[in-house]
Amino acid sequence: MAGISIQNVYKDYGALNVLKEFSLEIADGEFVVLVGPSGCGKSTMLKILAGLEPASGGKIMIGDRDVTDLAPGDRDIAMVFQNYALYPHLTVGQNMGFGLKMRGMPKAEIDRRVRAAAKILAVDHLLDRRPKALSGGQRQRVALGRAIVREPRAFLMDEPLSNLDAKLRVHTRAEISALHKRIGVTTVYVTHDQIEAMTMADRVVIMRDGAIQQIADPDTLFAKPENLFVAGFIGSPG
Ligand code: ADP
Ligand code: MG
Repeated sequence: MAGISIQNVYKDYGALNVLKEFSLEIADGEFVVLVGPSGCGKSTMLKILAGLEPASGGKIMIGDRDVTDLAPGDRDIAMVFQNYALYPHLTVGQNMGFGLKMRGMPKAEIDRRVRAAAKILAVDHLLDRRPKALSGGQRQRVALGRAIVREPRAFLMDEPLSNLDAKLRVHTRAEISALHKRIGVTTVYVTHDQIEAMTMADRVVIMRDGAIQQIADPDTLFAKPENLFVAGFIGSPG
């Protein structure tokens, strides 16, 4: 099966079991949101998917490759963090191309990819500026650009909007949704904000204390929450 397959993944930190058996099949092109209260294990699951943290057990397939034991750079996925620090001494274009340069990609190909990504994100007029000359929203778009230029099989985003003010958050949320519609890359998006989850997701995974409570599309979640926690969390009449 194409896409991403997470099979019985769990995680212990010493005696603390922070992720119970987690299984999820993600189709190619799908936008899946993991949502739940702070501390429920969302970032842990995303880090395991990215290869930044080893699982205590279970298996992860990306496409037809078992990536469970592969390093982050070998998984063909790009992670966008909430802390999107850009290199202050590099231009926007250099920031976007930096990862590709480090991997030894020829300059002409880097330029092509940076230009294409900058156009998609409407920062193509800012390529020669330094980060300090950008607004918060523009910086966030450049951070997304760094992920897009890698042309990965999937994007993983951990609360990418949480450092933005409320107005910019709504705006950037819409931009990420529009971007997903345009380029259709499989995305796993983590947030503690149920409104973000319900407005952006093809499917939502509701988590609590390291365990999945329900996996469904937003309409189904709202109409048929499987338990009181889900109903309360998304504000459904139940
Ligand atoms: P979320 O992203 O949903 O807020 P996390 O995945 O960051 O939750 O954390 C889940 C649980 O695992 C929390 O109880 C947290 O304290 C614990 N945890 C996370 N990272 C570590 C670690 N490196 N060592 C020990 N406990 C951790
Ligand atoms: Mg987190």
